[in-house]
Amino acid sequence: MKTFWFITGSQFLYGEETLRQVEADSKEIVAGLKLPFPVEYKLTAKTESEIEKVVKEANYDDDCAGIITFCHTFSPSKMWINGLTLLQKPWLHLHTQFNETIPNEAIDMDYMNLHQSAHGDREHGFIGARLRAPRTVVAGYWADPAVQEKIAQWQRACIGAEFSRSLKIVRFGDNMREVAVTEGDKVEVQIKLGWQVNTWPVGDLVKEMNAVTDAEIDALMNEYASLYTYDEKDTDPIRYQAREEIAIEKILVREGAKAFSNTFQDLHGMRQLPGLAAQHLMSKGYGFGAEGDWKTAGMTAIIKAMYPDGTASFMEDYTYDYKHELILGSHMLEVCPSIAADKPRIEVHHLGIGDKEPPARLVFEGKAGKAKVLSLVDMGGRLRLIAQDVTCEKPFQDMPNLPVARAMWRPEPSFFEGLECWIIAGGAHHTVLSYDVTAQALRDFTRIMGIELVVIDKDTTPVSFERDLKISDIIYGR
Ligand code: MN
Repeated sequence: MKTFWFITGSQFLYGEETLRQVEADSKEIVAGLKLPFPVEYKLTAKTESEIEKVVKEANYDDDCAGIITFCHTFSPSKMWINGLTLLQKPWLHLHTQFNETIPNEAIDMDYMNLHQSAHGDREHGFIGARLRAPRTVVAGYWADPAVQEKIAQWQRACIGAEFSRSLKIVRFGDNMREVAVTEGDKVEVQIKLGWQVNTWPVGDLVKEMNAVTDAEIDALMNEYASLYTYDEKDTDPIRYQAREEIAIEKILVREGAKAFSNTFQDLHGMRQLPGLAAQHLMSKGYGFGAEGDWKTAGMTAIIKAMYPDGTASFMEDYTYDYKHELILGSHMLEVCPSIAADKPRIEVHHLGIGDKEPPARLVFEGKAGKAKVLSLVDMGGRLRLIAQDVTCEKPFQDMPNLPVARAMWRPEPSFFEGLECWIIAGGAHHTVLSYDVTAQALRDFTRIMGIELVVIDKDTTPVSFERDLKISDIIYGR
């Protein structure tokens, strides 16, 4: 289980009794944090050597996903420099105070010595700023649920960062011919995000598919039956998708990979483009990208890792309804059923692209609600993550002849301005659609990974947005 370490800053100046109280109060704060991942009180740091030691321990502990620091008293920051310059784990500076209010009678100089984070955390903040250290600062009373939610979102970003740094992506086939936005510098991505993106021959996948047994397919068909509805009369195409899914997952497990991409242009030896197979694998937490889009595959997997009980899917902007100001999102097959409003149906239909047999796929409507669409693009010299706030709506018509899963949403700040901003930023047609990820978690994640984030939300205007992108080009030297 990933754990976060709580380190309280202090010094010897105030005497043993104060230090004992600092430790007791720190433990009470930690016990009072109701977060998705556990926090462990580590120590009250009083010397340079203690700080350096605990930072080194954090760096080498695979279970430590980040450190939280707080200065109950003053903690001179020169003694933090050597430790913090070695820090390789994400850092949250919790600017809180043990007591919520100032007591009238109890306050005296001893009280002031103990409860001086207003003072100590400023010294601590300075050294973070002076070191230009990437960090998240959260200010507020530690017991306040809003403060804890900010810490929780940072924790999710840290989990995403850990996941990202060990992420392996299997590519079956190359990117779709001639497409630009799904391309990218895999070496740069591994340096920045840690992803190992490598290719496996489709022939190996076919070999694996041929080795799948009927018993394995029967077991997966039982799982499909428990989750989805389908016509029992002709299950052959569905069984073929099960065969594909089992073979793909065997390769993913063997390679320790959590995401994969494929392309309809390279299905040699396969009878169907994986549809249901890719959809059901996504619902189990794997990232997926079509047309060789390994960047969206990786981001889908990361968002799923950050919000394991949440909803996230590979998605594609398809068609507009200008009158209703809605985007119809879908794909030729591969939308994750985690976003479904109702029980998905397995259907088998002809697919004009790819020149293969009609593939089985899940058909459903995406649920209504606030969400985000994310696109990771390679700007040449840097990676840009674009995040846009959207509102998903129940589709206003049933579109009976559209044989794929679909979702409809309206982008912020308004339909047309939202489109303008997305296009200005270079956002792709492929996205991750997530109902859970927050702007703060994305800010924290991109800060930890050292990549660019651009957000399009209700406050964005195309004019200021374009200027911000130009400033960003200057920041990144291009
Ligand atoms: Mn596509």
